[in-house]
Amino acid sequence: MTSREIRKAFLEYFRSKNHTIVPSSSLIPENDPTLLFTTAGMVQFKQFYSRVVEPPFPCAATVQKCLRAGGKSSDLENVGKTPRHHTFFEMLGNFSFGDYFKKEAIEYAYEFVTKVVKIPQEKLWVSVYENDDEAYELWQKIGGFSPERIVRLGKKDNWWGPAGDEGACGPCSEIYIDLRDVIEYPPCDEEKPGPCDGFLEFWNLVFNQYNQDLSGQLHPLEYTGIDTGMGLERLTMILQGKKSVYETDIFEPIIKKALKISGLKYEGKNRVPINVIADHARAVTFVLSEGVFPTNEGRGYVLRHILRRAIRYGKMMGLDKPFFYQMVEPVVEAMGDFYPEIKEHAAMAEKVIYSEEEAFFKTLNRGLEKLQDFIQEMREAGQATLSGEKIFMLYDSLGFPLDFVQEVAVDEGFGLDMEGFQQRMEEQKKRARANWKGEGFDFRILQGIVQETEYVGEDLYECEAKVTKLIK
Ligand code: ATP
Ligand code: MG
Ligand code: MG
Ligand code: MG
Repeated sequence: MTSREIRKAFLEYFRSKNHTIVPSSSLIPENDPTLLFTTAGMVQFKQFYSRVVEPPFPCAATVQKCLRAGGKSSDLENVGKTPRHHTFFEMLGNFSFGDYFKKEAIEYAYEFVTKVVKIPQEKLWVSVYENDDEAYELWQKIGGFSPERIVRLGKKDNWWGPAGDEGACGPCSEIYIDLRDVIEYPPCDEEKPGPCDGFLEFWNLVFNQYNQDLSGQLHPLEYTGIDTGMGLERLTMILQGKKSVYETDIFEPIIKKALKISGLKYEGKNRVPINVIADHARAVTFVLSEGVFPTNEGRGYVLRHILRRAIRYGKMMGLDKPFFYQMVEPVVEAMGDFYPEIKEHAAMAEKVIYSEEEAFFKTLNRGLEKLQDFIQEMREAGQATLSGEKIFMLYDSLGFPLDFVQEVAVDEGFGLDMEGFQQRMEEQKKRARANWKGEGFDFRILQGIVQETEYVGEDLYECEAKVTKLIK
C-alpha cells in the first residue's frame, strides 16, 4: 500500500463506523497558549473533552499535521538517530467525545490493523496501563492475545497527557509490532517492549477519563472519551516492509534530493545527516507555510533551531553554501497534493530559508576558521584541552554553536574545559549586571536571551555592544 492509500483506508474505515471526517487543524494550536505546536490529533478537540465547547459530532477521525520540536514533547534530538522519530509527522486518529469508550476503541483498532491493513496478529504486542485490568481483559477477549504479549507499563509510557499544561488525560494502551527480524536495534536494558529491542510502537489508544487543571490536579470527566494516534509514517514503514520511517514512499523524493545535493550514497554513517535533513525539510516547509518565521523566541525560535540544525548536518556532510532551500521542492512534490498550503507558499519558503542559510553559513565559517587556528596552536603547544576562555570566545563573540565546538574539538582529539566555560558565562552575567546603569535599555532582555536561546552568540554580542554604547 502507498502512504496515500493508507491515509484513505484509515479515513474510509472510520467513516464506515459513523465517524465525521474532520480536516487537519493548523500546526499552531488555536486556543491553547500553553502549547507551542500541535503535537497530536486530539489538540484541536481539547475543549470537546472538557465540554468547554459542546462537540458538534459524537466521534471524529482525522489525519493531523503534528510537530514535536521544542517544549516538553520534543523529539528533535531523536531525529535521525532512531528509525521511528520525526519532528513533523502525520497522525491518524479516531476520537470519541462521550460516545464509545474502551471496548469499541480496542475493537476498531484491532479490526483496522488485522483486517483492513492485514498485519498478522502473531506479530502484534500490546501494552496497558499498570492497573488497567479492563483493557487487559479486552485485549485477551477481542484480539486473543496471550498474557505474555500484553505488557503492563507505568506512567511514563502508558499515561497520556495532557497536551500543553492542561486538558484531557488518562491511561492508554499501545500497539506494537515485533520487528526484531527486520530492524537493526541496539541492546535493550529495560524489561519491556520498545523499539530499543526491536519492537515498534505504532498506535496509542488513550482512554480519557480526567481533566488535568493548570495546577496538575485531576478531575474526573463528566463524559469519558477516546483519543487515538497512529503515526502514518510508522504504519507505512510496517506495511512497506521497511527498516525505518525514512525508507517509505513518503520520503523517497525527499531523500533522493538530499543525496543529489550532497553527492552521498544512502548508506552507513551517511544515513543520520541525510535523515535529519529530510525530516527537517518537511518541518520547516510546513511551519513556514503557516506564517511562522525564524526569530529568537517562541515558535519562530523553534523554527530557526530546526533550520540551523539541518544546516549544521549539511555542513558536516561537506556542504559549504546555502543548499537547504532546495529541499522545499521535493517536500512539495511528495505532499503538496494532500497539503496545498505548502505548494502555495513554496516560493516564499525557499526565499526565507535561503536568507537564513546565508547568514548562518557566515557565522559557521567564521567560527570554524577560528577554531582551526586554536587547534593548530594547541597542537604546537602540546595542549590536550580547549580552554574555557577559547570556548567562550567562539560561542560568545563569534556566535558559533556550542555543540559544534564540542563536536569539532572531540573529532580532532581534544578535550573541552566546560567548567571554565560555564564560569566565564557566569562572570559575564555578573559583569553585565554590575555595569548596568539602568537607562534606556532593559538589562533583563540580555538575561532573557541568555536563558532562552541556544545560539546566543551573535545576538548577545549585538546587545552587549548596544549596552556598552549606552553606558559610554
Ligand atoms: P515513542 O514512544 O515512540 O516516542 P510516543 O509514545 O511518544 O512514541 P504517542 O504520544 O503515543 O507517541 O503518539 C501516538 C503515535 O504517534 C505513536 O504511537 C507513533 O505512531 C506516532 N508518533 C509519536 N511520536 C512520533 C514522532 N516523533 N515521529 C513519528 N511518529 C510519531
Ligand atoms: Mg515519544
Ligand atoms: Mg511510547
Ligand atoms: Mg505512545
